Order: sequence, then C-alpha cells, then structure tokens
Amino acid sequence: MPIIDKIAALQDDMTAWRRDIHAHPELGFEENRTADVVAAKLAGFGNITVHRGLAKTGVVGTLKGLGTGSGRAIGLRADMDALPMPEANDFDYASRHPGKMHACGHDGHTTMLLGAARYLAETRNFDGTVHFIFQPAEEGRGGGQKMIEDGLFTQFDCEEVYGLHNWPELEAGKIAVHPGPVMAAADQFEIIVTGHGAHAAMPHRGIDPVLVSAHIVTAAQSLISRGTDPADSAVVSITVVDAGTAYNVIPDGAVLRGTMRTFSEATRNRIEQQFSRMVSSIAEGFGAKAVFNFRPGYPATINTEPEARKAAAVATQIVGSDNVVWAPPPTMAAEDFGYMLQQRPGAYIWLGHGAHSGPGCRLHNPHYDFNDAILTTGASYWAKLVETLLPRSA
Ligand SMILES: [Zn+2]
Ligand SMILES: [Zn+2]
Repeated sequence: MPIIDKIAALQDDMTAWRRDIHAHPELGFEENRTADVVAAKLAGFGNITVHRGLAKTGVVGTLKGLGTGSGRAIGLRADMDALPMPEANDFDYASRHPGKMHACGHDGHTTMLLGAARYLAETRNFDGTVHFIFQPAEEGRGGGQKMIEDGLFTQFDCEEVYGLHNWPELEAGKIAVHPGPVMAAADQFEIIVTGHGAHAAMPHRGIDPVLVSAHIVTAAQSLISRGTDPADSAVVSITVVDAGTAYNVIPDGAVLRGTMRTFSEATRNRIEQQFSRMVSSIAEGFGAKAVFNFRPGYPATINTEPEARKAAAVATQIVGSDNVVWAPPPTMAAEDFGYMLQQRPGAYIWLGHGAHSGPGCRLHNPHYDFNDAILTTGASYWAKLVETLLPRSA
C-alpha cells in the first residue's frame, strides 16, 4: 500500500512514541504529561507554532506550507485521553498508572497526528495553514466542546475539520467513510414520578407511582416504533427503575433513568419533546406528577458529504479503492468530534485496525492494544489529506 516513504521511515519512532503514551495514560483534562510530550515534539519538529491551554490540557500546533497564495486553513484533530479502567495486558509498556488505560487507542491517534506533523513540518509541500488539534477528554467529559468554548475556531480558524478513529471491527489496511451520520447523539434522561404513598392493602388511599412508572416505561416504547421514521435510526432505553423499599408499602415516588440515541437533530428534539409531554400527561392521568429532566450529551457525529468524498479520495490514494468502504452502517456509540462538525464542515473516518492482538482487541476492552502496524497508514492519510486539500500550484 502506498504509505508515504518518509512516514514509513518513522515506523520505529512512532511505535516508541505510542508505547510511551500507552504506558502513561491520563484521564480527561488531566493529560498534563501527554500534552507536555505532544507540545515538545511539535516544537522540536520545527516551523510549528505551539499553543497550549485550550480546554486546560489541549494543544494546537499551527504549520504554514511553502505555498503562500491560498490563505486557506484546515484542522486535523486527535484525542489524547485514556479510560478509567485497569489494563489486563502485561507487556512492558502496559499502563503504569493503576486504574487508567489507553483502551480506545487515543495513544495511537495522538501518535499518528504527531507523525504527520513531523513529516509536514519537514516537507511543507502545501499551500495554506494546517492546525494540528490535540484535544483532551473525549471519553465522556466533552473536551472537544470545551475547546470550542475556549475559542478553538476563533483563534485557529479552519474552513474544514477532520478526525479519525481506529476501528477494530474493520481490517487493518481498510478505511471506512460515511457520507452522513457516523456516530449517534447520546443523551440521558431522568424521570421523577411523585405519587402518594399508602398501605399496599389500601391502594385507593394513595397514588401509586410504580403503576405510573410502568405506564411510562410501556408508552416510551412507542417513541421509536410509532413516532420515528422507520428509515431513521434511534433507540430509547430505560435502564434504571427505582422505587419502593418494602413488600407492603406503596412508595411516595419513583425514579426512572435511561439514554436516548439519535442521528438527526430533528428526531432528537422531537423525541425529547414528545417524551416529556408523554411523561407529564401519563402522570396527570393518574393524579400523579412527573418531571422529565433531559441531560444533553454528545451530538451526533455527522460528516458533510463533500468533505467525506474528499476524505475517501485521499484514503483511496493510501489504501487503494478496494480497501475504502463507502457508507457503511453508522454506530449508535457517541463521539465528541460531533461538536466540531457542528461548527465546520468535515469528515471523521474509521481507520481499519483489526483485532490484531486477539479476540479481546476491542475498544474499551482491558486486553485492547493499539495496532502499531497502522500508525504509518493513519499518518500518511493525514499528510496526504493536507497536501491534497491545500495543493501547491505548480
Ligand atoms: Zn472510547
Ligand atoms: Zn475513542
């Protein structure tokens, strides 16, 4: 596969960088060592201006190409954080931080973007500006959103922004590109039902919040099956039902919790509103009260089609057209790159990773380890993306 030669030559260096980051995992907004490593490397590559402090531990490296005419700029984003889980691997670069692990491959993502930065800083064979965005706290803490709030796109304006994630379900050497939704929005809700407690033998003296909750749980099943376009994907799961303490006591109240996952913003808003209305009217029908608390999580990660096509064309140059998977089904998992794609056009691709180290080589599994064999593929994709989107005129 046509990996860029100068990047192929970085295989050993990148492997060493990746394993060093793997051995020192840090959780969201605590990536101090990782950010130090990233900033020092970017500065050492030459020609890159390094900015620190967006979203606390974020790092942005800015590099201008040798061409001077275009005035254009793009952003490439990698995530740096690890997960709060113990590592089950016992190789010599396994986590040295108990209870923390790079089980999602962000060590590899950071390394691939560093590899591309090193190559591009040396060659600068493009016309315009590239911002290398190293974000903290992808795993549930919203570091991407925080970087935007802290001025990412006002300080480092980009016309387009690109991201990638390693994908163990996809063979190493392949790249998948979605022309629209890639990952779902994931929102939490909590429903607080207030009834009136009574003796189980005298239910007519009270208002039973358990019965109200049961009706809510049942009615919620229609939010998707009757309320959502069958061609659209969404899921509502009630995962906590909490009420009562005794066999013979009807409790005063009940609490339900769960998540909803959607791809389109219209469906997301509609389900939220319909669910809220349903909850209060069901409760009212029984003479009870219910409050629907919605806690928005990550938005859906939705590629813009023109940028997805550009990404796929670049992927084809690196892995060949037979190895580019166009428009596979999206996943209901969530990803905070969705915030960046709400601000700018762009594309988030899946980089084939394979289950190279065995059946436990799955994202968020304690046996996961990033596949170093794909470091040069990812770095070459980044480099080629820059040279293709910001071409130098002859
Ligand atoms: Zn993850
Ligand atoms: Zn991840």
